[in-house]
Amino acid sequence: MPHCQHCGTRWKWMQTLKTSFTMNTYDGVTCPYCGEKQYQTKKSRRNTYLLYLFFPILFVINLLVDVPSFLNLVLLIIFFISAILLFPRILKLSSENELVK
Ligand SMILES: [Zn+2]
Repeated sequence: MPHCQHCGTRWKWMQTLKTSFTMNTYDGVTCPYCGEKQYQTKKSRRNTYLLYLFFPILFVINLLVDVPSFLNLVLLIIFFISAILLFPRILKLSSENELVK
């Protein structure tokens, strides 16, 4: 789970998950404990993109191999759940926006 770099508090899983839907790359997100802005680190952002890369890979596999539709649905659900479970673990926070340096 990510730690706020200002107050050092570890964010809870649910807060982190909510953050994943609202985090803006440039504006960051406000720490629920100290109110300071936090930003996703470059490395964490790169890992998030790699995580989401599974979805297009699934699409390409689908084009190349005749996968039964129920198996597609199962794989999509597995990837989606994996992304939700893994995102809080790969989210790393920074007090400075590394994109504007
Ligand atoms: Zn904080």
